[in-house]
Parts: sequence; C-alpha cells; structure tokens
Amino acid sequence: MKRMYLDYAATTPTHPEVLKAMLPYFDESFGNPSSIHSYGQEAKDAVERARSKVASLIGAKSEEIVFTGSGTEADNLALKGVALALQRKGNHIITSSIEHHAVLETCKFLQKQGFSVTILPVDGYGMVDPADVKKAITKKTILVSIMHANNECGTIEPLAEIGTITGEAEVYFHSDSVQTVGHIPINMNKSNVDLLSISAHKLYGPKGVGALFIRKGTRISPFMHGGSQERGRRASTENVPGIVGFGKAAEIAQQEMAEEADKLTSLRDQLIEGILTGIEYTQLNGHPVMRLPNNINVSINYVEGESVLLNLDLEGICASTGSACTSEDLEPSHVLVAMGLPHLQAHSSLRFTLGKWTTENDIYRVLDVLPGIVAKLRAMSPLMKTAN
Ligand code: PLP
Repeated sequence: MKRMYLDYAATTPTHPEVLKAMLPYFDESFGNPSSIHSYGQEAKDAVERARSKVASLIGAKSEEIVFTGSGTEADNLALKGVALALQRKGNHIITSSIEHHAVLETCKFLQKQGFSVTILPVDGYGMVDPADVKKAITKKTILVSIMHANNECGTIEPLAEIGTITGEAEVYFHSDSVQTVGHIPINMNKSNVDLLSISAHKLYGPKGVGALFIRKGTRISPFMHGGSQERGRRASTENVPGIVGFGKAAEIAQQEMAEEADKLTSLRDQLIEGILTGIEYTQLNGHPVMRLPNNINVSINYVEGESVLLNLDLEGICASTGSACTSEDLEPSHVLVAMGLPHLQAHSSLRFTLGKWTTENDIYRVLDVLPGIVAKLRAMSPLMKTAN
C-alpha cells in the first residue's frame, strides 16, 4: 500500500537537493572548520555559505546566526543564555501556556534556579493577547518568550504587536519560530524580535541542526563551555553536513515559500471544509484565519483521536493527534487544554499537517476514508450513545 505522509509539522522529509548538497561533506570534504589546513578551510567556507543563506531567509546578518544542535537547543540557549547574562538586572520571564515543551520545561528549570516565570493564558483560538504581555512586564522582567506559530493548533501569534510592547519596555523578546521559518515570511530587519529559534528538519533540512538568531548587541551567555566555535556562543565542532543541508533548505525555502504557502492554504481549506461539512460533531481547533498554511486541527467528538489515527494508519495515512514529542503521553494536549477545550474534546483531536509533496488527491483520499472510520468508531462509542 502506498503511504501518505500528512505529519509535516512533526518533521519534513529531507529534500533530495539538500541530501545531495550534504553528501560531499561526509567524505571528500570532511574537514574540521577549526583546522587551518585546506580541508578545514573548505569546511569553514561551507559553514559560512550556509550561515549567509539562513540569515538571508529571515532578513538577518550572517553574524547574527548561531548554529545549534536543534530547535530545542536554540530555545534553551535563548532562555538560559539571557537568564544567565541578565540575572543581576532582573529575574522575571514571561511566556505563554501554549509554548513547546522546549520553552516550558526550560522555564520550569529556571524557576528552580530562582527565576520567576509568568505563564500567560491564551484565548479560545490559542492566541496571546498583547495587552496581557504589557500588564505582566515589571521592572524585573528580562525576557518575553512567545512562539511565532503553534505546532499543534497552527495559530499565528501577534508578534509585531508584542514586539512593539517589549521594544518600548526595553525587554528582550524571544520567539520560537520552529514552525514558521521557511513557511511564512519573517523579516528580522523589520521586527522587534531579539532572539529567534529555527530547526532545519521542519523546512526539508536534516534533523539534529538548528539555529538561534541573536540580534547584534543582545547580551547572552553560552550554556555550553568548550572551544570558541560560533564566536564563543556554542562550543563544539560544527555539524558540517547538517549545516550545509540547512543552508540548502533555506535557499530552496526562499525561492519556493510563497508559491508553496498559496498551494497549501488552498488544500488546507479544502480539507477543513470537507471534514466540517462531511462529518457530524466536528470542530476546527485554532484560529480560522491567523493560521499556518499547512495546519488542520479538528476535534471529532465522540471518538478518541488515537483510535482514528491508528485506523488511518491502517489505510496508509499518517497524521497526528498533537505534538509528536508527547504522543506517548496520555495527558490531553496542554495546548488544547489551555485553549479551553474540555478534556474529551482535546482527546478527540486530530492534526493533519501538509507539505511540499501533498496533492489534491491526498485530500480526496482522506475525505473518502475518514467518515467511514469515524462512523465505525462512533458505532462502538459509549459516548456517542449518551449523546443521541
Ligand atoms: N519548537 C516547536 C514549536 C516545535 O514544533 C519543535 C519540534 O517539534 C521544537 C521546538 C523542537 O525542535 P527540534 O525537534 O529541532 O528540537
């Protein structure tokens, strides 16, 4: 059976051009960028070319890009790095209840170290209110961390408005943009964001490589100690093939992003419309308009999301019920709960995320198969019996 991948928010396939660009850096150009001989210089040049491509994708300067081992590491570096550097100035951090665990768990860790953390609520669409950010800022606030778009419900947050507030308050602003870079336009030249996390494997690059944009002049301490790579901000020999692949992925994204977003928005809306009109007792989770072009998150009431997922998998359709990182967790998604969904509705959620190779036929196939699966599961569901 041909499998269909509709889980692009969990990870994307590596683009064939990316893989091709990476391969020489495993064998003939294997040098360590810190070596001064020709092998080393070849590797160093490749890393710097990749850096300028990643910088160009987000309207940054090359020297503002620090390569990391992942999006998680970029988030850790931003939060711990600013906390360490500014601890004498203040100890207060503001974030939101729908952040990725890479941010929320780092905040918990910092709390244990004596920092105080305000976790802002979101509305029913998963949107942070900039007025709440303004109210939460105190003289002790050193950092606001609000994601650009949520990985589960797809809602795009009002970064420009929040940036105006942090700018006026002279507080650093970090944004986890792992789900947006390479998918929707981001221009650090016109933004008040000081620190921005990126992950290569969400934009058709390899896994295990990410970056943190650090605006020139931002005070930040490294949390890994060792060599002086990445201008002393991230010790460790660079993952040269991974970084080269990341650069190639950024280059492709810059060329193809606008067209891809248009195509995906249309496929997304077709799938949302098909599910909401074709299956009873369904609702869209997340914002209807301020939404990632590739994200469909629905609650299919009176069935368990996991059961639908397994049945879809048997039909060769690979989707998700929330974030892949927590799929072994039986707790309902913290994002959907923060949006006010009752636990039962949160448990009945299903996420399809589309990508470069998704076709209209894929959407037709989901719409063909899903109603039958839901009807079969509902026929066995005690919850459905009480509803009728
Ligand atoms: N932040 C968000 C919003 C994500 O979706 C993810 C991955 O799912 C991460 C951070 C972590 O990125 P990585 O897998 O590169 O550690």
